[in-house]
Amino acid sequence: MLATPLQYLKGVGPRRAADLAHAGLLTLDDLLHRFPIRYEDRSRLLPIVSLKPGLATSISGRVLSCGLRSTRRPGFKIFEALVGDPSGALRAVWLNQPFLRDVFAPGQQVVLFGAAEMRGGGGLQLTNPQYEILEEEDRATIHTGRIVPVYEKAGSVTPKIQRRLVYDALQRLPSDLPDTLPDPLRMRLGLPSRRAAFLAAHFPPADVPIEDLNRFATPAQRLLIFEEAFLFHLGVLARRRSAAEERKPVQVRVDDGIRESARRVLPFKLTAGQKASLKEIVEDLQRPYPMNRLLQGDVGAGKTIVALLAALVAMENGLQVAFMAPTEILAEQHFLNISRLLQASRHQVALLTGATGVAARRRQLAEVESGAVPLVVGTHALVQGDVRFKQLGLVIIDEQHRFGVLQRATLRAKGLHPDVLVMTATPIPRTLALTLYGDLDVSVIRDLPPGRLPVKTTAKPDSRRAEVHRFVKEQVAAGRQAYVVYPLVEESDKVDLKAATEMADHLAQDVFPEFRVGLLHGRMKPDGKDRVMRAFAAGELDILVSTTVVEVGVDVPNASVMIVEHAERFGLSQLHQLRGRVGRDRRQSYCCLLYQAPLSDDARERLRAITETTDGFEIAERDLLLRGPGDFFGTRQAGIPTFRSIDLLRDRDLLDLARREAVAWLDSVRPTPSAITEMLQTWETRFHLIEVG
Ligand code: ADP
Ligand code: MG
Repeated sequence: MLATPLQYLKGVGPRRAADLAHAGLLTLDDLLHRFPIRYEDRSRLLPIVSLKPGLATSISGRVLSCGLRSTRRPGFKIFEALVGDPSGALRAVWLNQPFLRDVFAPGQQVVLFGAAEMRGGGGLQLTNPQYEILEEEDRATIHTGRIVPVYEKAGSVTPKIQRRLVYDALQRLPSDLPDTLPDPLRMRLGLPSRRAAFLAAHFPPADVPIEDLNRFATPAQRLLIFEEAFLFHLGVLARRRSAAEERKPVQVRVDDGIRESARRVLPFKLTAGQKASLKEIVEDLQRPYPMNRLLQGDVGAGKTIVALLAALVAMENGLQVAFMAPTEILAEQHFLNISRLLQASRHQVALLTGATGVAARRRQLAEVESGAVPLVVGTHALVQGDVRFKQLGLVIIDEQHRFGVLQRATLRAKGLHPDVLVMTATPIPRTLALTLYGDLDVSVIRDLPPGRLPVKTTAKPDSRRAEVHRFVKEQVAAGRQAYVVYPLVEESDKVDLKAATEMADHLAQDVFPEFRVGLLHGRMKPDGKDRVMRAFAAGELDILVSTTVVEVGVDVPNASVMIVEHAERFGLSQLHQLRGRVGRDRRQSYCCLLYQAPLSDDARERLRAITETTDGFEIAERDLLLRGPGDFFGTRQAGIPTFRSIDLLRDRDLLDLARREAVAWLDSVRPTPSAITEMLQTWETRFHLIEVG
């Protein structure tokens, strides 16, 4: 019955059906799972005379007069309505919505929702209020005289039409609508039946506190959210359990010899966080089924060495390792770094990038295929292209939280079941991590190597650039190095590129003539980039002007100053990543964010956050709140589930609870492997995860 298409509801013709479909609503089930965006208490509508400025309220009244008014700004029109109830009248205005002329007419009974404000000439006014026009027969039915649900408009389907549709759909609910959750679980959590939940989530009984409704915290709402979360986590766990059925061809062992060779390559003492993460990883390596682990650690936390030690364990067991970075610059840097560290071992390492010459590449491919080279560093082309391994045991993917799901699928398709370690410096709040990466295990390095000082960060309007340049001069004269970063909206954005190029020239000739200035940007050829980056790393350049290609992973400990131009254009997490390029040794580092005034509210918030804290987790939380999960992870990114009732931010507690309950349920019920496979299929369809891993 819930699968009934919406066309079968009275009042849904082709046009409305299409608009509903566009909003993702195809069936009664979809419709009933779409929560209102908010609830309004229209059981006690306030008399107009008692309204106070600043408070959001709904009022009901009759349109006394209305009409379109021109303003001094050409083309800019204001629609005005005078609305009265027995206690008084107030003015409502809508800016630039001339079509309202055809919507409102004197004599209509309307409900308006908005915040009243004082008008210049006295009296109250509502600006751009939400509105509903009531017909005679609507009065005291589902649209007023009670707590009413307000839905998001879907094309031609207004909130009011949707309210009617939902109401009709609810009337059709069979009295024996089955529950999805096991009854004992539902009872224990104090959640109502599904049927009761649908009814009360859309048309709440009069005694439900409106605040609870608008926090989506009533038992009815919680049932629907929990149900979806429980199913989701069951699927994630099922996927994990079926992955645990896979078998690695070679099982890794760790003995004293291996521990000794790890000690030989280690240039410093590991932090507690590094040790704990390494232990978890090495335990995974020794299991019979492949590892799927995410290693999280703020920029500079020292993830590379942890990955390298894991690689060493694999190599000592005769396995090959693919170490992949998102860009060629980073691959090159890892290669240099790793070759240096591995000099203290017997293992060879090769670099395979687009810049590798044809002959060299052919030779290296042969060496990888024969197994002579155990460790290959490169970009993602490593597992996707023509590279064949003799015995690939471990894949390390650096700086990617858009991570390896697809790569893992590619590997599996090639018949490979290596251990996979994904590293990311984008801290993901725990609950989100469980939801988004629930089938990955997560290790977190929370501490930084000893002696690191937090980067001193300031934000200044770009009118104070000269002062910042003076500071850079002092630092460079004292032997340190500096980054000057330009935003590049797109790598192909010619205007910005020109600005960056010109700025590099200007800095080199006019501002810092006594220093060596280099330029790095995304449109340079790979070997050109390499040359510049290597020169900077070797201290042959004092100042590196770059577009955001320097963002991830680059490690030049002597660089202690960063100037970010147009800082207002960067996202919060991105600024944090950038800033992570300095502060990489024991000396004090500085980051100066130059912005162009005036700042938007959002930009001001971002700059405030980045200057207030250097804790990557806190920054991630704030970024999430500023942008919402969709933008935080990039919209429609593979692997982000499509939820109907769940809001990733709002419902974090319930998601957590649902996960614990799902684990407990699986452990007590112990479904058969075939039941699990079946569960996975429904699950992947339901959450649109089919294209992934
Ligand atoms: P990230 O986690 O951002 O990838 P890196 O692995 O690049 O960080 O490490 C940052 C810097 O800190 C490197 O120069 C590295 O050599 C150094 N480092 C890492 N771990 C330690 C440690 N335990 N003690 C001292 N220095 C360390
Ligand atoms: Mg790194």
